[in-house]
Amino acid sequence: MERIQKLISRAGAASRREAERLIKEGRVSLNGQVVTELGIQADETDEIAIDGVAIGKEKAKLYFLLNKPRGYLSTVKDDRGRKTVVDLLAEVHEYIYPIGRLDYDTEGLLLLTNDGELMNGLLHPRYEVKKTYLAKVKGMVTPEKLQKFRSGIKLEDGMTAPAEARLVEYNEQGNWSKVKVVIHEGRNRQVRRMFSAVGHDVTALKRIAFGGLTLEGVSRGKYRELTADEVAKLK
Ligand code: URA
Repeated sequence: MERIQKLISRAGAASRREAERLIKEGRVSLNGQVVTELGIQADETDEIAIDGVAIGKEKAKLYFLLNKPRGYLSTVKDDRGRKTVVDLLAEVHEYIYPIGRLDYDTEGLLLLTNDGELMNGLLHPRYEVKKTYLAKVKGMVTPEKLQKFRSGIKLEDGMTAPAEARLVEYNEQGNWSKVKVVIHEGRNRQVRRMFSAVGHDVTALKRIAFGGLTLEGVSRGKYRELTADEVAKLK
């Protein structure tokens, strides 16, 4: 059992304070009876109405991990009709949206949810969720350049925070190399801009981890629901 004003605010019908005002004004009913006291308790099975209109029950929160292919926009809808990541979760009928963004040409791990609170929290820089990328770039990335990733790179929107960067593969001729980069920030096109600032074009970019979550078991274009445990760890 919980106070009525709490149930009203959780259902998204009014803020807690607003709900208290509505109760005092005699505009709230519980199972058909007007209530005017703030202390009254109820639970999710009770019918609560404001001005005679029943409030919705709390919506189930949904969390998905998608392995985004290239060629999809990280938005819900595109007015030019291009494919969006939400098209890949067509079986999900709730309104969901991506947490942050991957570029049209970037592939990999993207979370989607209908939980706005979680989304705002995770996108806040103070949260510092580690995001791990695998970048294939033109040319050979030298140890000096990797060091620049670690000490910070000057971009037009300011210095980047220290990032991890490690060479993981390259070809003998030195015309391409692959670097694993871990950043905590999430600026627009950040990884591409960091490489560009040290003189390398990115030819392929994939996000392989977000916090402790990886793409394991989720092939390109597919998705899975997060477990309750995984969601708890994100909060
Ligand atoms: N950095 C980029 O440059 N692009 C992305 O999609 C994500 C991070």
